[in-house]
Amino acid sequence: AVEPRAPGSPRIIAIANQKGGVGKTTTAVNLATALSACGRRTLIVDLDPQGNASTGLALDSNQRRLGAYQVLVGGASLAAATQPTVVPNMSIVPTTPDLAGAEIELIELDRREYRLRDALARAASKEPLPYDFIIIDCPPSLSLLTLNAMVAADCVLVPLQCEFYALEGLSQLMRTIDRVKRALNPVLEIQGVVLTMYDKRSSLNEQVASDVRAHFGAKVYETEIPRNVRVAEAPSHGKPALLYDIRCAGSQAYVRLAGELLKREHGLSGRSLSAA
Ligand code: ADP
Ligand code: MG
Repeated sequence: AVEPRAPGSPRIIAIANQKGGVGKTTTAVNLATALSACGRRTLIVDLDPQGNASTGLALDSNQRRLGAYQVLVGGASLAAATQPTVVPNMSIVPTTPDLAGAEIELIELDRREYRLRDALARAASKEPLPYDFIIIDCPPSLSLLTLNAMVAADCVLVPLQCEFYALEGLSQLMRTIDRVKRALNPVLEIQGVVLTMYDKRSSLNEQVASDVRAHFGAKVYETEIPRNVRVAEAPSHGKPALLYDIRCAGSQAYVRLAGELLKREHGLSGRSLSAA
């Protein structure tokens, strides 16, 4: 049911963790911004009905006529639902209020787990997608919307907050990724795990981080995203942290994360990413 994608097509990364508040949206927006700043053409797909990525990028809701809902359920083209953002090189398929009902509506639809993948394939069949990366911001659940992201994606990037239950949540996520891989999208892989809102002074953070690193080894990014008030403030100014305050520790960490990610991606054989 899944066609291999053409070489040179965008690398599609789902940012997923069924826990809320772990830094998915912050990572999606700031990683995408850092990649754009490196000259990579980037598209964010906001698949969370809460629409934090869309509001954090100052897309006001009456500007958002078409979005992810219309692409998944309404048959709108990807291009029609895509808007520019304040960040050069970075576009977004925003959330519209109807996305909240999509979970229910999708159940009844044909190829319900493949809706996003099919929409991307339809768009790519007309002309090559004008992106190097597509970053999908998932809702905090392992629902049909997240499944659509995992089926459309090449890989999953997992933001993880180093708290007591982090590892339990992670094993459930890994089982889901495994099931998707076996049943729906055989190429899906774990792109990486990134530790978010990290506080070096917290011994619990440190203990969990070392457990996660012991378990996932090189999958865990060296870059840790520190807890940083500027990062938390940025969305209320309608900007990614990187535009709000490029010098703050959080922005700098996202720049390093993008550098590490590009290094990993260039290491993949048979993939062409356009140069910066
Ligand atoms: P999710 O998308 O997983 O629900 P968010 O990215 O929305 O998580 O982050 C949850 C909350 O934590 C938000 O209020 C966000 O601004 C804040 N936050 C995220 N990353 C950081 C950080 N590195 N430092 C401080 N606050 C952060
Ligand atoms: Mg979110």
